[in-house]
Amino acid sequence: MKDYYEILGVARNAAEAEIKKAYRSLALKHHPDRNPGDKQSEDTFKEINEAYSVLSDPEKRAHYDRYGSAEGIGAGFGAFTGAGFGDIFEDIFGDVFGFAGRRRARPAKGNDLRYDLDITLEESAFGTEQEIEVPRWETCGTCSGSGSKPGKGPVTCSHCRGTGHVRFQQGFFSVSKTCGSCQGTGTIITDPCSACKGNGRVKTVRTIQVKVPPGVDAGSRLRMSGEGEPGANGGPPGDLYIVIDIRKHPLFVRKGNDIYYETVVTFPQAVLGAEIEVPTLDGATTLKILPATQSGKAFHIRGKGIPRLGGRGKGDEIVIVHIEVPKSVTARQREILEEFARIAGEKASRTFTEKIKDIFSGAEN
Ligand SMILES: [Zn+2]
Ligand SMILES: [Zn+2]
Repeated sequence: MKDYYEILGVARNAAEAEIKKAYRSLALKHHPDRNPGDKQSEDTFKEINEAYSVLSDPEKRAHYDRYGSAEGIGAGFGAFTGAGFGDIFEDIFGDVFGFAGRRRARPAKGNDLRYDLDITLEESAFGTEQEIEVPRWETCGTCSGSGSKPGKGPVTCSHCRGTGHVRFQQGFFSVSKTCGSCQGTGTIITDPCSACKGNGRVKTVRTIQVKVPPGVDAGSRLRMSGEGEPGANGGPPGDLYIVIDIRKHPLFVRKGNDIYYETVVTFPQAVLGAEIEVPTLDGATTLKILPATQSGKAFHIRGKGIPRLGGRGKGDEIVIVHIEVPKSVTARQREILEEFARIAGEKASRTFTEKIKDIFSGAEN
């Protein structure tokens, strides 16, 4: 027969506080976390817990005092299952061993939200201001988030006694898990609020004004602080992230801060040079095509691209010039071209052949 008073080193008439104090100091000393692999300490620790579970409970203690035994009152280490063991521990030690306290009460930041916003290339260049509609959860205004009908507060969950989690013994350790009866909230809603059906939150669609700065690119993320979902237990709301995508433009292709435009000139324009009109993001402009322009040549129009986000200056508009071959020619045009070919063509073709020869002989490397 074990003497629980002796195990805890207290007198038979020791007060509750004394027993608690003795248990605390012994359990700290013999806790397996502090004595890894020490079998003696482990056994002592079990004994201390067994003694404390009996002596800390007035009913069990009276039974023990009267019969000198804890038989039939659920003592013994095996009886430390369910909430009892964990509660003793939490009660006595609080956070000494890093037990997870009452999680439900901790303020938590609300979820961040993402909104994909398609804008035009022009809008990405000059910036835009848009109204977007964001569906999100908001704290229910009828019950202020409690989930209960006004005046009918939620009641404490009896299963976990309001802690939101239950403990059970796994091997030697006390393991905590979320209470299944109240989903970890610690309270049960008996009269649910009719506006949110006890949820405490309602789904709403909020209209938000978004200012898109000039220079944003596809994939740019704009953070709108505090426009996400509401926080829990007084925590701050999450953020809203606007993710930019840019619609395909009929004329321009954007690469970084430059925009590309492809156009065609006639063969005589390429040879002799010309002035052609090209579109830019802010109206048409004149571009000088130099004489002897080769097909595929790029002309830069400085500063007609996209402004640098958060920086100074703008990218360029790059005009790629292709030489257009007419699909058909008139008899007169054919005559002139044949004449042209006779004069210059042979030479051009010889130059071309020589070039090919050079490439294959490696002369250009
Ligand atoms: Zn409500
Ligand atoms: Zn519960």
